[in-house]
Amino acid sequence: MTKFISQRNIRFMIKEVFDVKSLTNHDYYSKHNEKMFDMVIDEALKLAVKLMYPVLEEMDRKYPVLENGEVKVHKSVKKIMKEFGKGGWIASAFSEEHGGEQLPIIIRGVASFIFVASNYSAWAFTELSAGAAELITSFGSQELIDTYVPKMLDGKWQGTMALTEPQAGSSLSDITTIAVPDKNSRFKIKGVKIFISAGDHDGVENIIHLMLAKIENAPPGAKGISLFVVPKKRIDDQGKLILNDITTTSVYHKLGYRGTPAVEISMGEKDDCYGWLVGEENRGLIQMFQMMNEARIGVGLASCGIASAAYLAALEYTENRPQGRPVTLKDPLTKQIPIIEHADVKRMLLFQKSIVEGSLSLILQCCMYADLKKVSAGDEKEKYALLLDLLTPVAKAFPSEYGISSTSAAIQCFGGYGYCEDFPVEQYFRDVRIQAIHEGTTGIQGMDLLGRKILLKDGKAGLLFIEEVKKSIRVAREIGELEFFADQLENAMKQLEKVVDFLFNVFGEKGVDTYLSDASLFLEFYSLIVISWQWLIQGTTAKKALSENCSKKDTNFYNGKLFTINYFFRYELVKTYRLATRLMDGDDLTINMKTEYFKD
Ligand SMILES: Cc1cc2nc3c(=O)[nH]c(=O)nc-3n(C[C@H](O)[C@H](O)[C@H](O)COP(=O)(O)OP(=O)(O)OC[C@H]3O[C@@H](n4cnc5c(N)ncnc54)[C@H](O)[C@@H]3O)c2cc1C
Repeated sequence: MTKFISQRNIRFMIKEVFDVKSLTNHDYYSKHNEKMFDMVIDEALKLAVKLMYPVLEEMDRKYPVLENGEVKVHKSVKKIMKEFGKGGWIASAFSEEHGGEQLPIIIRGVASFIFVASNYSAWAFTELSAGAAELITSFGSQELIDTYVPKMLDGKWQGTMALTEPQAGSSLSDITTIAVPDKNSRFKIKGVKIFISAGDHDGVENIIHLMLAKIENAPPGAKGISLFVVPKKRIDDQGKLILNDITTTSVYHKLGYRGTPAVEISMGEKDDCYGWLVGEENRGLIQMFQMMNEARIGVGLASCGIASAAYLAALEYTENRPQGRPVTLKDPLTKQIPIIEHADVKRMLLFQKSIVEGSLSLILQCCMYADLKKVSAGDEKEKYALLLDLLTPVAKAFPSEYGISSTSAAIQCFGGYGYCEDFPVEQYFRDVRIQAIHEGTTGIQGMDLLGRKILLKDGKAGLLFIEEVKKSIRVAREIGELEFFADQLENAMKQLEKVVDFLFNVFGEKGVDTYLSDASLFLEFYSLIVISWQWLIQGTTAKKALSENCSKKDTNFYNGKLFTINYFFRYELVKTYRLATRLMDGDDLTINMKTEYFKD
């Protein structure tokens, strides 16, 4: 069986880098201990190996179909939803009050990383339910919570996130699905939603859409959007489940992520579709953003899990594939060497390792901020909330964009076989591609970072980030032998300051259009610095561990970490110089390019 995650790296991250057990000092997490965290991770791995990885390929090949108005999914979906419900995985991070385990978000994140690396499509069903149930729990009435949440957490009912419409993808303010008040908090719903993941299937008894719609006569734009629970089957006056007039009109044929159906649904064709308001009227988008922010970190995590599986498959292959000889040894009578011995192959593997382990580190850092935000109060709470907000677009976009390059490099390591179905890397490449598109495209994340996040609270979030980086640089300098990396990161931070100053001037002189025109480039520039910071933290931890007595195996592991930080700084962080040159060259090329110039 192909290995899809490194258990040693997970141990390194949660015990050595993030010291997750320190969370148990807080009341909210005090019933847990380190041994329990280890057990959770072991159980996640068992489930992934037993239930999810074996159907990875089959779920891709036998993808969902629309038959007689209903979407049929792979038979294992029913089993997976049941097991995840029974085992408390969907509810794991929910409070005990809401039927959960109150597991730290970072431990849940590690478990999700394992699941996603074993089979992304299978995991998505469970994760969508968790997110939708959390929205109802956070903003819904007690009646809504009692009616829907237990069944969603049990894996019996599927939750979805129903936002996108044909004319409203990136720009959700343009949605037209309409909600007309009926009685109590019940509304008649009419409209069309597209690309709804797990939006209909036969693996569960019911589908619960968390849907954005506009109440009749609501203010235009985002300020008029409300959130509704719109079930596929509603409960009638006798307590029976009856169809709620939602028609599945098509299931998309996708490049990857094929095990999970994405569907188009039409509500109210017979004027008999009802939804129930969640939270306050016209606050739907703000409420939905709670789920979207977590979902965005989830997308980063998913990218990183898929890239991990591809990297480890490539590693195994390159160790076993003989091809060619060292450049200094041309004699054809000598034995061929495994391709991992070629410098260029090592470069490709280092690239993948640096992306996978650097991204995972950032995702877990975000999870840790989310946990600390949960257990703290006052200024501390605000600090973690701001850092989390600031880093969310990076945690979403960097793993998804670089995850595409990383899985592509995995294919390259396999040569021709990588391009064929004989090995799983071609599927990983297809599966990861969606991540840069859904939950807000990379372009939208760039505008979120430059247009909103670095300006948050008059730039306080950005200043807090600078403090965090400075702290890591100080610790690295104390350890010694990491000066090169500390200096490089310090220089990159100075350059970041220059770029931001330059862009603020652009904002003042030329306006917001020009300011945001290269937001995607700024996002990449900023992300490379953020990931370098995470690598410095990992490098410091590895260096410290090496100075103590460690086994040969551990010595190899920590040396691997040190070579990878070296790789990331020398091959990837240096890209910030090129990006900074463009970000500060002041030519408004994309603003001035006219649409007609593209024409023949
Ligand atoms: C497999 C799959 C699953 C999905 N699952 C769900 C789901 O469960 N629920 C749901 O609601 N949606 C879902 N979506 C929809 C997804 O979130 C949207 O596709 C995405 O938000 C982009 O919207 P769009 O497709 O309309 O593209 P568009 O918004 O048309 O974007 C096209 C391109 O234009 C760029 N662009 C658009 N506006 C701007 C702008 N203002 N400035 C700069 N660039 C811009 C984008 O960055 C992008 O590159 C899914 C999509 C897919 C493919």
